[in-house]
Amino acid sequence: MKKKALITGLAGQDGSYLAELLLAKGYEVHGIVRRTAIEDTAHKLKNIGHLADRIHLHVASLDNVLSIIKTVKDVIPDECYHLAASSFVSYSFEDEISILNNNVNSTHYLLASIKEFAPGCRFYFAGTSEMFGNVTNAPQDEATPFNPRSIYGISKVSGYHLVKNYRSQYGMFACTGILYNHESPRRGYEFVTRKIVSSAVRIKLGLQDTLTLGNLDAYRDWGYAPDYVNAMWLMLQADAPEDFVVASGETHSVREFVATAFSCLGLDYERYVKVDPKFFRPAEQVQLCGNPAKISTRLHWARTKSLGEIIREMVESEMELYKGTRNE
Ligand code: GDP
Repeated sequence: MKKKALITGLAGQDGSYLAELLLAKGYEVHGIVRRTAIEDTAHKLKNIGHLADRIHLHVASLDNVLSIIKTVKDVIPDECYHLAASSFVSYSFEDEISILNNNVNSTHYLLASIKEFAPGCRFYFAGTSEMFGNVTNAPQDEATPFNPRSIYGISKVSGYHLVKNYRSQYGMFACTGILYNHESPRRGYEFVTRKIVSSAVRIKLGLQDTLTLGNLDAYRDWGYAPDYVNAMWLMLQADAPEDFVVASGETHSVREFVATAFSCLGLDYERYVKVDPKFFRPAEQVQLCGNPAKISTRLHWARTKSLGEIIREMVESEMELYKGTRNE
């Protein structure tokens, strides 16, 4: 019998790589998508268009508990990967009510539905380094206290505690992966890495003159998205459910990222990049940098690409979009 996996956030960067990984491992892959995503396939299902005839799509809304129950009862998954969330970290606190409600409720609805209707299902929850937020020590690991600084971070800390309680009180195999930033050609344009790569390619092609960024001296722990979905899968194959930090263990500045991306195209970034304080975020005293020692030792997880290799892949792939040899 094929194992069945249910993914929320299927059409996002991580959902699409995870679907590919699970299909390659012989899983039957099911995904929850919004009705609008089905109706507007060309745009909303862009990352999974090439998988369309190999995956099962279920129209459901993560803020509607009945539609979640129905999907869980229909599929009875062996593994559920809950990746969907309002995920962009703005610090403006716009939309804070809906972000908090949607992210916390969807996690709760899934856990409650699985407990009742698919009790053997293993559950992965997409946590984030934003749960650590304003850190006082680096690197962070599974024992580092949470100190979220955004509504998104707060919603993820709440989800983490729901998962932990379902695990301890109901014996569910449920765990949280605390993932640091992870990038790929499928990263959304609102994130700095894709913004940089896309602009660098457009500048190279003469379609754009300048790139305006915020703080070039901000540091991030950037990894490769396909490596991080592999970590999610490994967590659900473990002997016992546990939470893990998934990170590269290195930080690099936005400036380094920009310089490398432009130099891949034979350009000097200093000629094209402008800084506008409107893109600045509150200053960080201590860097977000994860320690992946636990997942490396316990689950033998390892990353396969350095940041330089990730940037090169992103740049080459972006070029293909313009040459028409890749679709989004
Ligand atoms: P996240 O903030 O970690 O979720 O990821 P982002 O990719 O949005 O931002 C990464 C870092 O890049 C942050 O420290 C930002 O302050 C910095 N940054 C600098 N310029 C920009 C910009 O123009 N857009 C974004 N999104 N981030 C920027």
